[in-house]
Amino acid sequence: GPSLAGVDPEVHDAIRAEEGRQLGGLELIASENFTSRAVLEAMGTVLTNKYAEGLPGKRYYGGCEHVDVVENLARDRARALFGADHANVQPHSGAQANMAAFLAFLEPGDRILGMNLSHGGHLTHGSPVNVSGKWFDVSAYGVHPDTGRIDYDAVREQALAVRPKMIIAGASAYTRTIDFERFAAIAREVDAVLMVDMAHIAGLVAAGVHPSPVPWADVVTTTTHKTLRGPRGGMILSPERHAKAIDKAVFPGLQGGPLMHVIAAKAVALREALAPDFADYAQRVVANAKALGDALLARDFRLVSGGTDNHLLLVDLRPSHPELTGTVAEQALEAAGITVNKNTVPGETRSPFVTSGLRIGTPALTTRGMGEADMHRIGEWIARVLSAPDDERLVQRTRDEVAELAAGYPLYQAAALPV
Ligand code: PLP
Repeated sequence: GPSLAGVDPEVHDAIRAEEGRQLGGLELIASENFTSRAVLEAMGTVLTNKYAEGLPGKRYYGGCEHVDVVENLARDRARALFGADHANVQPHSGAQANMAAFLAFLEPGDRILGMNLSHGGHLTHGSPVNVSGKWFDVSAYGVHPDTGRIDYDAVREQALAVRPKMIIAGASAYTRTIDFERFAAIAREVDAVLMVDMAHIAGLVAAGVHPSPVPWADVVTTTTHKTLRGPRGGMILSPERHAKAIDKAVFPGLQGGPLMHVIAAKAVALREALAPDFADYAQRVVANAKALGDALLARDFRLVSGGTDNHLLLVDLRPSHPELTGTVAEQALEAAGITVNKNTVPGETRSPFVTSGLRIGTPALTTRGMGEADMHRIGEWIARVLSAPDDERLVQRTRDEVAELAAGYPLYQAAALPV
């Protein structure tokens, strides 16, 4: 039949424009990445036509013999990559994976202990605006105000005081290695389920660059699209003893038919993450984050926790730029072709729409092939733009330099993309 451009030029043109945006600037959103062309290709297939409620070999629909092959590949690769007994690759997203974990282990009204959103936790870990905050009795832990790091003694004391049914470890804006063994000891002491949401660091865990939560947690949830560099989606890993409860929670507990085209793309990404060069990629992600952090520290920026162990930096703008909000900083950088996101910081004094911080991550630019020397240039540009966010000529000059750097790292030769 006719191509997308022929059927729907409006959507086609918006997709093409987005492709230009992604490749023409510098993508530093910590939760984003560029999947391979093979992953994109798997997603844009006839698998989107197929209903496959159930699990491989136990479906509620006929005609599942080929999608069963695909889902088994995804499950086997996930188990091999992370050394897990069991994998469910059906969650449509990270939030869905978390809801399924809650459904498997909790009843409405149960007490949970998760990381405070404004200290780096995720909405689904008990924020009052999320179902996790509405249906559970939430206590939140944070980072120590002096160190910007999780204070495990304080978490233990809080756990002993509130006796949660579940403890949630994992974050969206935490720059240091998380001690899952320590969390497991605390959970054991208070007889709580330990859930680890490793969405941000899954690729680092896969590569052995961050310690794995799999030996320590009752359930590990993740997204597949961040450092793991797969399609947008979720996944759950667990020991065998929880496998049935988790599978039932995903379907029929929470979801209907799985997205088989996305599961195919997950299988491809997991195969890529099992290949030897993925460990090298993950190491470069961390080295790049350190280099960018050093470049910013050298220009008097303050980083929460003083630096990073992983793929992201959290800039607290207040000491260096007391008048500059996260919103204004994000917009000025965007105008210069540098995409980051505003973020609350520990001890935040502004609203979540305004904020005093920026979250900056290196997974996407590392995929493009950029290295530490590029990070030093980018740090210089960030400092320059934020020193005069209203100076249009300066922003434009930076935009030109950004475009030149981006052009030096091509990705997805345009003619070969599925669209
Ligand atoms: N968990 C963590 C730690 C995250 O950072 C995110 C996404 O930002 C999610 C879960 C939610 O994933 P999704 O956006 O796929 O629902």
